[in-house]
Amino acid sequence: MRYERQILMKEIGEEGQNTLNKSKVTVIGAGGLASPVLTYLACAGVGTITLIDYDTVSESNLNRQFLYHEKDMGMNKAEQAGDVLNSLNSQIKIIPVSERIDEKNIGKIINGADVVIDCVDNVETRLIVNRECIKQDIPLVEGGVYGFYGFVMSIKQDFPCLECIGYGNTKLKRPGPVLGAVVGVIGSLQAVECIKILLGLDEVLYGKMLNYDGLSVSFDLVELQKNDLCEVHGLLKD
Ligand SMILES: [Zn+2]
Repeated sequence: MRYERQILMKEIGEEGQNTLNKSKVTVIGAGGLASPVLTYLACAGVGTITLIDYDTVSESNLNRQFLYHEKDMGMNKAEQAGDVLNSLNSQIKIIPVSERIDEKNIGKIINGADVVIDCVDNVETRLIVNRECIKQDIPLVEGGVYGFYGFVMSIKQDFPCLECIGYGNTKLKRPGPVLGAVVGVIGSLQAVECIKILLGLDEVLYGKMLNYDGLSVSFDLVELQKNDLCEVHGLLKD
C-alpha cells in the first residue's frame, strides 16, 4: 500500500519497486540538500540509506534543514536524521555515520553503494567524493546552491567529472548565501536523478549540468565535455 502510487508508474511497477527496495544509496552530508534527498529516498523505499555527517544541529541550519527542529539544536545530525527517517519508514535500513569525510575514510564509506549523492557545502569534500566515485565506478549525483542559483549533474566513469569541468577552481564565500526553498528544488532534483539511475532509466544528467536560476525563473541545460588532462580520469589510465 505504501508505494501504491509510484507502482502505478509504468517506469516503476512492482519490479522497479523491488529494485528500489534492494538498492543502497550513500548520502554525503545531512544538511539542506540532504533534507529533501533523504526524505524522498526514504519515502520511495530505497532499501538501505547510509548518511554521513559529523556536525551538530545549530540555529542557523533551521532556515533550510527541515529534518531538524528547534528541540534538536546541539544534537548529532547523523543520529537525529536517522531517527526521523526511521520514523518515516520503518521498512528500510538507515545507517547513520557520524564521521568527517577525508581521503582516508571515503573509500570505505562509499564502498558497496549503488549511487552516492553529494549534499555537502564545500569544494574540498566534493572533490574527494568525486575522485573516489570515479575510482570505484559508482554513479555520483552532485548538487549545489548559492543564493537563488543551483545546479545538478550526474557523474560516472565514462562521463565528465568535477575535475574535468575545473570545479576545483571554484571560489565561494563561506558560509554561502542560501534560500531554503532553492535547496528544496535542487535536493528534490537530486532525489529524482538518483531514483532514475537506480531504475536504469535513460535521460540521466551524465555529461550535462542543469542550472536553476530562481531569480530569472529559468532552467538551463549545459552540455559538458570530458577533459583529456583531467587528473582524476587520468588515474584510470595507469
Ligand atoms: Zn574527470
